[in-house]
Amino acid sequence: MMGTLVKFTIVGVSHQQAETAIQAAADAMQRVEAMFTIYGRHDNSVKAFNRSTPGDTITLAPEVDRLLQHALAIQAASHGAFNPLLGSLDLLWGFSADPPLTTPPPADSIAAAIPPPACIEKQRGGWVRNSSNCKLDFGGIAKGYAIDRGIAVLKEQGIQHAIINAGGDIRLIGRHGDRPWRIGIRDPRHKGEVIRTLELEGDVSVVTSGDYERFYIYKGKRYHHILDPSSGYPARGIRSATIIAPTATEADGWSTALFILGTKGIALAEAKGYKVLLVDAKGELHGALTPLHETPVHPQSE
Ligand code: ADP
Ligand code: MG
Repeated sequence: MMGTLVKFTIVGVSHQQAETAIQAAADAMQRVEAMFTIYGRHDNSVKAFNRSTPGDTITLAPEVDRLLQHALAIQAASHGAFNPLLGSLDLLWGFSADPPLTTPPPADSIAAAIPPPACIEKQRGGWVRNSSNCKLDFGGIAKGYAIDRGIAVLKEQGIQHAIINAGGDIRLIGRHGDRPWRIGIRDPRHKGEVIRTLELEGDVSVVTSGDYERFYIYKGKRYHHILDPSSGYPARGIRSATIIAPTATEADGWSTALFILGTKGIALAEAKGYKVLLVDAKGELHGALTPLHETPVHPQSE
C-alpha cells in the first residue's frame, strides 16, 4: 500500500483474532489511500479538485476536507515548509510515477509549477483554487493518516498491543509482552543499519522523512522526493528527519516540514511537544533524540 510494504505486529490475542483485525485495518488503510492518491486510474475528490477550473467550488470528501485543514495548519505553523498544494511540482518531478522519472525537469518548468502563495480558499463548504498550478498532494501526510485509521480499527477490534509499520513510519500501542516495543531509526546512508534504538510503549508514533526513500543520482547529485516549496527543488542540507508525536498524522506532516526547515526547525517542532532527530548532510545528529556521546555517523559518504 502507498508505495510501501505495510507490516502489522500484534501480540496478546489469538492468531484468528489478529488476522481478522489486520484484515479490517488493512481495508481501512487501502480506502484512505484510494481517497487521497493523485496517482492511478481510480477517481476521487482530490483529483476532481486538481482538474477543476480555477474559481469553481469543489466539495471534497469529508475526510479529505478535514485532513486538508490539518495540513494547512501545519503549513502555517512551519512557515510554509510543509505545503499540501505542490501537486503540479510533484507530478512534474515524477518521483512517485510508475515508472519513476530519473532526470530533473527543465528549470523553467520547475519555476512554472510552483503554486502561488495561499492558492486555495474555503468557500460555502467547498474549496476554490486560484491557479491551475494549485494542486493538492497529500503525499507528505496521508500515509500517517492511514496509519492512524489503521490503529483506530485495531483498537475497535479489541487489540491493545500492536505496531503498524508502513515502510518505517510507525504508530504503536501497548507493549511487547513484558517489555516496551523496540523501534530502530534507520541510518540514511547504510541500508539495514540503525542510528538509534528507541524503547516506546503506550500510544505513540515515530515517523522519518528521508532522502534515501525515493531518489536518483544525476550528474553526481542526489535528487529526492521532498521538495522545498520556495525553490521547487529537492530540499538540501538534511538526510533524514524523525519526529515522535502522539499521532502518525502529526508525525508525518512534521517530519516532512522538519526535513525542509533543517536544524532551524527543531525549536519549532519541540515547542509543539515533539521529540526530533535530524541527520544533516555531514551525517551529524541534532535534536533531543540524539544519543549521548554519539560520534558523527559516516560523514564521508554522499
Ligand atoms: P515518505 O512518503 O517517503 O514517507 P514524506 O512523508 O516526507 O516521505 O513525504 C514526501 C511526499 O510528500 C512526496 O512524495 C510528495 O508527495 C510530498 N511532498 C514533497 N514535498 C512536500 C512539501 N514541501 N510539503 C508537503 N508535501 C510534500
Ligand atoms: Mg511526511
